[in-house]
Amino acid sequence: MSWKENVRQVEPYTPGEQPKEQNVIKLNTNENPYGPSERVQNCIMDYDLLRKYPDPAALDLVNALAEYHHVDPAQVFVGVGSDDVLGMAFLTFFNSDRPILFPDITYSFYPVWAELYRIPTRTPALTEDFRIDPSDYRLENGGVVFPNPNAPTARLLPLEEVEQIISANPDVVVIVDEAYIDFAPEGSSALSLVDKYDNLLVVRTFSKSRSMAGLRIGYAIGQKELIACMQAVKYSYNSYTMNRPSILYGCASVADDAYFRETTGKITATREWFTKELTDLGFQVIPSAANFVFASHGTIPAEEIFIKARERGIFFRYFKQPRIDNYLRITIGTDEEMRVVADFLKNNLT
Ligand code: PMP
Repeated sequence: MSWKENVRQVEPYTPGEQPKEQNVIKLNTNENPYGPSERVQNCIMDYDLLRKYPDPAALDLVNALAEYHHVDPAQVFVGVGSDDVLGMAFLTFFNSDRPILFPDITYSFYPVWAELYRIPTRTPALTEDFRIDPSDYRLENGGVVFPNPNAPTARLLPLEEVEQIISANPDVVVIVDEAYIDFAPEGSSALSLVDKYDNLLVVRTFSKSRSMAGLRIGYAIGQKELIACMQAVKYSYNSYTMNRPSILYGCASVADDAYFRETTGKITATREWFTKELTDLGFQVIPSAANFVFASHGTIPAEEIFIKARERGIFFRYFKQPRIDNYLRITIGTDEEMRVVADFLKNNLT
């Protein structure tokens, strides 16, 4: 007998590459090119405070988010990026023997948490044009999770269809992962359904629209009972997930709505312009409601473009996976960066 027989074996999630070189155009991990609000940059961190433990409930940040979203603070759960919040939600809510459901093409961390926590899964296929079909989510299941907009496709599921999935599954928790929702048209978020459905958990992040991926802040909003269940699990695992800088800088970001609107607006405008450029160059682009686009060229294989671009210091994301291995996921950077990318593509697609 060896200790090796009792190891929890998992195939870990592979994050996008973080190149060491400077002067690259980094469009492979959906970071935001504009940086956090000046309020965050001007925030004074009291370094003496690092000596003491933070508030385990992170109440300053919870209260700021509750006020921002017009919910009760007892409806807000915060964590170390939305990965932490999602992992905690899987551990808390997906405990039956029935399989949880998520799309075949989606955020590739879901199957990893499922394996880690030994949750059975079923993965209904997206339609040919990468839509989630709500009627696929009527099977008997132990829970449902999907991103909206979906990743890596960037496609938005209209709110009525999100609601169809939630209302068809009243006996399990439905997690809507809204990592990219701030780049979608107003009125797309399932937050408006939280009061109506006690089985709905909406997950958000500061990594994309608030440009704070390096700090690691995520949160979930749901009815009080759901949030209390997550808190009980969190306090049974690690009471101090939110460190002091995250709480302080997170609050500063939430306080600057003008900057948030300005930068998310700029990214969506650049996305529309860049989508047209790609289309003119012979790409099929899935309509995007996120800060990235998912595109496939009519004749040149995606992997070839990916490798050539990388050689020039332009980083895209490429998934060598069935159904999507001829697509590139390209994060929207500044206008200037996207102009360089469009020129590169123009010169290299023959
Ligand atoms: N959900 C989706 C759909 C994502 O693409 C990502 C980014 N990798 C996350 C959640 C996690 O983001 P973070 O942990 O930075 O909040």
